[in-house]
Amino acid sequence: MSSSAIDLPSSEAIARYEPVIGLEVHVQLATATKIFCGCPTSFGAPPNTNVCPVCLGLPGALPVLSRQAVELAIKGAIALNCLIRPQSRFARKNYFYPDLPKGYQISQYDEPLAEHGHVDIVVGGVQRRIGVTRVHMEDDAGKSIHDGFKDSERYSYVDLNRCGTPLIEIVSEPDMRSSDEAYAYLTEVKQALQFVEVSTCDMEKGHLRCDANVSVRLKGVEKLGTKAEVKNLNSFRFLKQALDYEIARQVALIERGGRVAQETRLYNPDLGETFTMRSKEDAHDYRYFPEPDLVPLRVSEKWLQEIRASMPELPAHQRKRFIEQFGLREYDAEVLTATRPAAEYYETVARVSGDPKTAANWVMGDLMALLKAEGKEIADSPVSPENLGGLVKRIAAGELSGKLAKEVFPKMFATGESAGVIMEREGLKQVSDAGALEKVILEVIANHPKQVAQYKGGKTTVINFLVGQAMRATRGQANVAMVTELLKKTLGGSETC
Ligand code: ADP
Ligand code: ZN
Ligand code: MG
Repeated sequence: MSSSAIDLPSSEAIARYEPVIGLEVHVQLATATKIFCGCPTSFGAPPNTNVCPVCLGLPGALPVLSRQAVELAIKGAIALNCLIRPQSRFARKNYFYPDLPKGYQISQYDEPLAEHGHVDIVVGGVQRRIGVTRVHMEDDAGKSIHDGFKDSERYSYVDLNRCGTPLIEIVSEPDMRSSDEAYAYLTEVKQALQFVEVSTCDMEKGHLRCDANVSVRLKGVEKLGTKAEVKNLNSFRFLKQALDYEIARQVALIERGGRVAQETRLYNPDLGETFTMRSKEDAHDYRYFPEPDLVPLRVSEKWLQEIRASMPELPAHQRKRFIEQFGLREYDAEVLTATRPAAEYYETVARVSGDPKTAANWVMGDLMALLKAEGKEIADSPVSPENLGGLVKRIAAGELSGKLAKEVFPKMFATGESAGVIMEREGLKQVSDAGALEKVILEVIANHPKQVAQYKGGKTTVINFLVGQAMRATRGQANVAMVTELLKKTLGGSETC
């Protein structure tokens, strides 16, 4: 950025320092109703219509904890490999803000829902384990609207529809060492939570929000540097950009003999810079105390077991299984487990076809290309996984050449029909009948005496040309393996054989 407020440090200076990053991620749970009342959580309702005395914080209104919110929070924590505490407790986090009518947020403090988790990331081929310190539940605040109205220059508006929406906050250990690792961590967290259907994690709707804590220290130094917290990073790109800027800013500051201030900063994507929002209040400024209107949350072993039993296989486990069971490459396994619908789709294709590797190529190649071209998700694929599995099975059985399959598949995509129906209608069938093939081969031999002579003279690669001619004569419908074998047999051995 040309308008940068700092002189960027040299790459040598940056290389002397190690960045340390910890993320705090807020995720909206996919419940239909709010965490402590029955108001809907729907997005985009007219302002201040999804509210009641509880979420407005009117005196005397009592919160009732949503069982579904707790279940989703537990699923999310399990997906992040956390231990669920048998007892956790809600606490009041007191602060004043116009979009927080209660004057406090109901959160969890020293007894969070879950702790001691981890997320494995792979960056540059290296796997690292990032610690998840805790996952706790809390309610969301409303929204202040500062622009978009005629009188926005003089007034701000408040919409309390979001008040009381259930969130989990996921706090990581300061274990990440680059913006790429932070990006990979957030990607894994998002994927895991979407997979277990805990949240849509739709960043545009604010269902996933990320604050990044970052400090730098000279390489080899153990003591952590003073951190700055960059708030409200609402896209993966901004997270990476803000971290890279912040790392450079801190290095420049220290290199000039300055000190990093412990503060909260915001990222300005237009300038590509972070700027001071406020100096960081200490946690005790929030005057946390146990929420007197709610009993401690107890999670019995039985309940926990029920929740575990209701959960799908987690993506990290599934990825490993696809590699071991189906012989997929790491990258392919990653792509195919990126979302739950993709993983389920692929697994059906693999099962029906009996050829998991070819199945992977078709799902990742032809299918995904056509889906992308039409802006469709795999869940809305016009080709059912059973039908794609059937196509791959025909290829494996030699009923359909790879080339013909490439012609049949777009027709399956356009009509939703099975390969068999299309092949029947179009008279497309691999010719595996030896008698029919023999006729074709004799013609090819008669028409290409020069190549035949070359072959017999020892230039065995000419066989490919002759096979090609036979395929052409059958409009690609001949069984390639059979054509090759029959040709060799008919021509007899070449002199080098
Ligand atoms: P605070 O008291 O400011 O909330 P916490 O210790 O609770 O700080 O940590 C908040 C987040 O900041 C966590 O994700 C943690 O990993 C991260 N963090 C803590 N110390 C540092 C540091 N020195 N550099 C970078 N990140 C840090
Ligand atoms: Zn309400
Ligand atoms: Mg903290």
